[in-house]
Amino acid sequence: MSRESVDVLIVGAGAAGLMAAIHAGRAAGPDTRILVVDGARKIGVKILVAGGGRCNVTHHEVRPEDYGGSSRNAIRKVLRAYPVDEVVAFFAAEGVVLKREETGKLFPTTDKAQTVLDALLNAVSKAGVELRHPVRIESIERGEDGFIVSGLEFEATAQRVVLCTGGKALPKSGSDGAGLEIARRLGHSITDAVHPALVPLVLADVDPIRELGGIAAPVTLMIRGGNGRAIAEYTAPLLCTHFGVSGPVVLDASRYLLAARAAGDDAIAVVRWLPDVDRDEFEQSMLGAPGGATCQSLLKGRLPDRLLRMLLHAAGVEPADRVRGLARDRRRSLLDVLFEHPLVVVGDRGYTFAEATAGGVPLSEIKLDSMESRLVAGLHLAGEICDVDGRVGGFNFQWAWASGRVAGGAAASIHEASIHAAS
Ligand SMILES: Cc1cc2nc3c(=O)[nH]c(=O)nc-3n(C[C@H](O)[C@H](O)[C@H](O)COP(=O)(O)OP(=O)(O)OC[C@H]3O[C@@H](n4cnc5c(N)ncnc54)[C@H](O)[C@@H]3O)c2cc1C
Repeated sequence: MSRESVDVLIVGAGAAGLMAAIHAGRAAGPDTRILVVDGARKIGVKILVAGGGRCNVTHHEVRPEDYGGSSRNAIRKVLRAYPVDEVVAFFAAEGVVLKREETGKLFPTTDKAQTVLDALLNAVSKAGVELRHPVRIESIERGEDGFIVSGLEFEATAQRVVLCTGGKALPKSGSDGAGLEIARRLGHSITDAVHPALVPLVLADVDPIRELGGIAAPVTLMIRGGNGRAIAEYTAPLLCTHFGVSGPVVLDASRYLLAARAAGDDAIAVVRWLPDVDRDEFEQSMLGAPGGATCQSLLKGRLPDRLLRMLLHAAGVEPADRVRGLARDRRRSLLDVLFEHPLVVVGDRGYTFAEATAGGVPLSEIKLDSMESRLVAGLHLAGEICDVDGRVGGFNFQWAWASGRVAGGAAASIHEASIHAAS
């Protein structure tokens, strides 16, 4: 097999890699050879399944606070390089008009993720970048004159490499964490903990929530450290399932629970079932309830019936118990269940069901204006391989678009500059 020579090699053609390829192609001169390779048989699987097949491309307001992982300042710097309005304009120019939904999420007006993938692939080709797959890269070594990149039936030298191999979520899409190992072998450190993010949580077998599969309610979910310290808090719908809990609030909070536990903290998840009600005011309304009001009638309409019955049972009260007649300890236990209900989380659903990965290459090891490694000259990194994970709502793609654009554009521009300097 002959070794081919490319100027910029992009490894991974997911959201970050495709955006990197487009901006590399646009920044490069006609003689610069840019190749993007991906190990998957089918390109863009994650884009196609995203947002339930509609692809939540970004969010109308993206702030560093919407992300976990590396420092907020570092994340801000990269996000600023590709603001949401520019991403919207990019897609519009490629024929994909985005619409904003009530939640602030932006989707293509077609409601079809395929439109987004088609536009990206078309833009890659217009930018003069070759896309080849399945080409799975197994090793990247820094040689005297650039990188030696090898995989099954593939060997190339490259002046610059942009590593966009993603994290470990949805491994069947091709993102199985192999890129993290490649980065480690090149000299990067990977965060101590790498774990699923945006992942459903498994509750103990006996937890009655598991009997309520399909029931959803808006709640506040709080993650607290073993010492009671508040770690994170989100308000959004929670979905009860046959294994435990899911829904946006659980996905958003999951990475904080798992990160704390990975660090050895006995963190817990606590639900407030009445997110817009003040506990003290609710207690007053119990004390002042009409004589005939029962526990069930007091809460009717505020929570789905089956969920309400389960919560009353957990508090040790009967639905027909008169509110005014409740003993003080029963009233307290009902208030605790409604406002401070700890979930017995025994695990998570793993990478197969996770939408993102927490952990990766720390941004402290990357120059943020070029996404070039501080440790390996000529290596750029972008997307989920970095220690950055966003909450539900288009934030992970926004990170991929922004970091991909910076990395791809910089890789090609630096290469062009080096040619001109040499000539
Ligand atoms: C079910 C699901 C739904 C989601 N929905 C949304 C959503 O609606 N909005 C949102 O913002 N985010 C969503 N996300 C998250 C989002 O998809 C990811 O954060 C984003 O795709 C990451 O982009 P990436 O390019 O860094 O990595 P990936 O998309 O994972 O792409 C990495 C690519 O690298 C390739 N690769 C890996 N290793 C190698 C190797 N050794 N050699 C060659 N190629 C390799 C893989 O095949 C893959 O194509 C969702 C994720 C999942 C799993």
